[in-house]
Amino acid sequence: MNTESLITRDKKVIWHPFTPQKYMPVPIPIVKASGTLLQDADGRTYIDAISSWWVTLHGHAHPYIAQKIFEQASTLEQVIFAGFTHEPAIRLAERILEILPGNLSRVFYSDNGSTSTEVALKMSVQYWWNKGEGKKRNKILAFNNSYHGDTFGAMSVSDRSVFTMAFQDKLFEVIFIDAPESVNRPYDLPWNEIACFIYEPLVQGAGGMKMYNAEGLDQLIGLCQQHQVICIADEVMTGFGRTGKLFASLYMSNEPDIVCLSKGLTGGTMPLSITACSAKVYEAFVEEDLLKTFFHGHSYTANPIACAAALASLDLLLKPECTEQMENIHQQHLAFSQQLQQSRHPIRNIRVLGTIIAFEIDKGRDEYLNNISKLITQQAMDQNVYLRPLGNTLYLMPPYCITTEELNKVYHVINSILKELAG
Ligand SMILES: *Cc1c(COP(=O)(O)O)cnc(C)c1O
Repeated sequence: MNTESLITRDKKVIWHPFTPQKYMPVPIPIVKASGTLLQDADGRTYIDAISSWWVTLHGHAHPYIAQKIFEQASTLEQVIFAGFTHEPAIRLAERILEILPGNLSRVFYSDNGSTSTEVALKMSVQYWWNKGEGKKRNKILAFNNSYHGDTFGAMSVSDRSVFTMAFQDKLFEVIFIDAPESVNRPYDLPWNEIACFIYEPLVQGAGGMKMYNAEGLDQLIGLCQQHQVICIADEVMTGFGRTGKLFASLYMSNEPDIVCLSKGLTGGTMPLSITACSAKVYEAFVEEDLLKTFFHGHSYTANPIACAAALASLDLLLKPECTEQMENIHQQHLAFSQQLQQSRHPIRNIRVLGTIIAFEIDKGRDEYLNNISKLITQQAMDQNVYLRPLGNTLYLMPPYCITTEELNKVYHVINSILKELAG
């Protein structure tokens, strides 16, 4: 496969996500991947330091997950999930409910992060409608700077930005408040009119890996629950160990009523997502009145191959070796952050949580559209590392299998880029 010809063919037929079409950068054809390494059509490899948009947990093309996918694909590849069921979906639900925080008792499947939050929002809104209080409980609470996906409901509860500008008047109204920086913040909210509160626990991912206060969030969830507000933890990014615990919600004592999972769910191999809810939420749908049915589903709901991949990924995730790998990454990040703190690089706000490290680069404007992100990606690629800063926020979220040597190489590349930026 020739690089030039792949690029030419791509340019004729493909429309890439989040990519300006007029000034589209030349895409790099990737032909295979293994562990942390992506390999392009010319045979060059790149360390995938952001887990291909935060999905890859155990490394690319993991043989164990691949084998399980193959076995499932040659046994039962897909079946309509209304009226039918299958072992992989049941088993996965059982295992996920076992490790999720709190009293979650039901799993609803869909196939990406945006649909998992859409489902959560629709469940919450209909919960109140089913209880005959839909008119009164008609408000939704979310954080400024949040990101919950790109479909309309998900966009509505996300920070309004250049990403949502064209749709502004089609998005429903939401009460936005700041993510807490401390405890005991006074909240003046119409509590008894709020149907649900959706939040990314502890880390606002797409909003720039902003980390916020766990006690403050715990307090807010508690306040919400005192007023029956349904709490939706969007763990699409934070799930499966990214923050140092299996789920970020485990840092809080108050437990969510609904949890959304996707990204790492299948270890980054198949599209799948989960919206898990408590018995309380579920029971509002167990009614004689057929109008109280949750009329929602997707063609690929609970796809057996995706469920098998998720089960395989869980097998790997729950091994002590994996916990050890995560802890190693965390310790290395801490050491690197100390080193950065003592450096004279033009950076600020260095933060580490679990396997995530992030900081802001001072040079340039605070905006996604500015060039610094592209520049850094290019410079890193030239040194065989793949990074994709969020605006001027540089972050790492490597697959757990990254070796000490590879991680040191990534740190080294970052140091060299920052040095050059400082001029
Ligand atoms: C990525 C992300 C989503 C959207 O997931 P997609 O699979 O890209 O639709 C939703 N919520 C959070 C917190 C995310 O990080």
